[in-house]
Amino acid sequence: MNIVLLGAPGSGKGTQAKRLEEAFGIAQLSTGDMLRAEVKKGSKIGRTADTLMRAGQLVPDNLIIALIETVLDDEACRDGFILDGFPRTVPQAEALDVMLETKALKLDRVLELEVDDEAMVERISGRFTCANCGEGYHDSFKPPQTPGVCDVCGSTEFFHRADDNATTVRERLKAYHLQTEPISAYYEKRGILTRIDGMGGMDQVTKDLTKAIEAQPQG
Ligand code: AMP
Repeated sequence: MNIVLLGAPGSGKGTQAKRLEEAFGIAQLSTGDMLRAEVKKGSKIGRTADTLMRAGQLVPDNLIIALIETVLDDEACRDGFILDGFPRTVPQAEALDVMLETKALKLDRVLELEVDDEAMVERISGRFTCANCGEGYHDSFKPPQTPGVCDVCGSTEFFHRADDNATTVRERLKAYHLQTEPISAYYEKRGILTRIDGMGGMDQVTKDLTKAIEAQPQG
């Protein structure tokens, strides 16, 4: 099962992709996580991406396509993958089609989380992550049970993403509407797109995504 998960910044894509990874035994491929790893390493790609990410802009298509191409053949993707944050432009979607065709693979589902922009600014501005195990938290919606201590691993180290602030979020939302939203129409024509209400609780959204994955394709 090969899936693309679309959704504006803050829509819960990453959290949901992790849940689906576990439920369906398919690999979550997050281009955002891959880029943040490159930034941490200080690689050439990382240095180019860092400035753009901090400004809330997309990194160039050729760079991100090359990055994705290297991981699709990983053993972890043997039973399928869930693309989280890719494609983000129509040229990326077209490049993905070519890549999959070369590998004799196909996309089974494209799931789009529909959310409200203003709520996303609030959601993103308060979020932070455990530096040790990666568990996600939020100042208002999901603080750790003991302040300053991770519920999962007990670590006391947390980090805020450099691009998780109100100003950058607005830029990221702009990029989403302008560059990423046209992808929906691209997949809708093929009958593989399902839109899901992303404003409900996390568990409800997981249920709706699961239902859409298990449903017969319309096309
Ligand atoms: P994310 O973690 O998915 O929110 O991505 C964080 C940032 O990484 C985005 O705001 C972009 O700057 C960059 N990025 C991630 N995926 C892509 C992509 N497919 N194309 C271009 N830029 C991307």
